[in-house]
Amino acid sequence: MSDDEGMELFRGKWVVAGWPEKLAAAQTLTHYRFPGPMARIPHRRIRMWPRSNLCDDCTARPGELHVPGCLTERCPKCGGQAALCEDIIRS
Ligand SMILES: [Zn+2]
Ligand SMILES: [Zn+2]
Repeated sequence: MSDDEGMELFRGKWVVAGWPEKLAAAQTLTHYRFPGPMARIPHRRIRMWPRSNLCDDCTARPGELHVPGCLTERCPKCGGQAALCEDIIRS
């Protein structure tokens, strides 16, 4: 596997090909179920990342929803990492 195959430049970052489509699709997933629905928490600017407002993991802009599985996304119910939360029902 070569280094640049299957990657594309998106918002100034190298991402896996097809990632922009995944990020776009993530914007339509606005709630998680616990089983009651709760609104997902969008990306917020983080001061520790001075060079970019983008999510370091999924390239979401502030106000955009993370790609499901993003390690920086907060769970709306418990405040922990959404990617690791066992309360979220994933269909
Ligand atoms: Zn993210
Ligand atoms: Zn949780």
